[in-house]
Amino acid sequence: MANDYYSILGIPKSASAEEIKRAYRKLAHQHHPDKDKGNEAKFKEINEAYQVLSDPAKRSQYDQFGSAFTNGARGQGAGAGFNPQDFDFSNFTRGFGFEGEDPFDIFSNIFGGGGGRRSRRERGVDLEYGLILSFEEAVFGVEKEIQIEKTDKCEHCNGSGTEPGSKISTCPKCHGQGQIRVMRRTIFGQMQTATNCDECEGSGKVAERSCAVCKGSGQKRRVKTLKVKIPAGIDDGQRIRVSGEGEAGYKGSNFGDLYLSIQVSPSRQFRRDGPTLFSDISISVYQAALGTEVEVPTVDGRVKLKIPAGTQSEKVFRLKGKGAHILNSSGRGDHLVTVHVATPTKLTKKEKELFKQLAAEKGESVEVDEGFWGKFSK
Ligand SMILES: [Zn+2]
Ligand SMILES: [Zn+2]
Repeated sequence: MANDYYSILGIPKSASAEEIKRAYRKLAHQHHPDKDKGNEAKFKEINEAYQVLSDPAKRSQYDQFGSAFTNGARGQGAGAGFNPQDFDFSNFTRGFGFEGEDPFDIFSNIFGGGGGRRSRRERGVDLEYGLILSFEEAVFGVEKEIQIEKTDKCEHCNGSGTEPGSKISTCPKCHGQGQIRVMRRTIFGQMQTATNCDECEGSGKVAERSCAVCKGSGQKRRVKTLKVKIPAGIDDGQRIRVSGEGEAGYKGSNFGDLYLSIQVSPSRQFRRDGPTLFSDISISVYQAALGTEVEVPTVDGRVKLKIPAGTQSEKVFRLKGKGAHILNSSGRGDHLVTVHVATPTKLTKKEKELFKQLAAEKGESVEVDEGFWGKFSK
């Protein structure tokens, strides 16, 4: 193997993450180019070894394939020919041993966009949670208790990643500067850029001992119970952002947000379009003709609705303010009731007689269907 990262760091292949870190710190301190007896080449070699072995994914790749896997960016020279991988952003930052998990990282560094934040330093991941509400819960709002499994803050170290009481010392790699200068191969050629020190993540300080519970990440996976207030008038398909209730950031970085995707169960009685509710009622021909008062179900319970005489079928009555709450307002929509006039079926003999009389009164001709047997019984 061209570069045996394990022997560079003087550790066995079975070394733990802590052992790798310890060996790296000792050697980085010893060979730092700013020191009298420093050795830049050696320092780079140590860094490269550490960057690979400290990253579990890269380490297992290295264990399988050796150092060849980073060749894409290890300065093979321009003569090596075009390799499509050269345009893979992730390769630009390799070779000098500095991670570039976020492809935009390098651009922020090249173009001086701020402090060149490393993605590991960024806020926690946003979460999405599907929440099913009943029709009434959506109309009136509700407080719900939900349980989400997520990466939360480690309580032992309060999210810092540092073992409480551990000695904090100046970062050996950047000497407390928080930044290091690195050469990068980019599509624009070799460039020297300042980047956040990856050892201390720009803070300039390192803790002697990482938190024993979270191993330094400041994060802990657990199930959290949350009370969430769902505003009145929320509708199917809408999302609610619960700020800061996503996953914990790395080493005390900001939390992500939690998004609740709302799904509203349909109602058997009502339909809804935003704040407006709809329902149907059926009245008889007599009620339609003579007028009546009926009880109509609403989300507030039954209310009386006056049907004036001569009401036509499909007429719509408006119950003002009986609709759903309007989101983020104290107002409410209306409830529209469509009246259907039901034509009577299965008339009794007497009813038939009365209808015939009504028809005769209007001079209307009616053909009374007496049914199959009726024809023979005449
Ligand atoms: Zn540092
Ligand atoms: Zn911890």
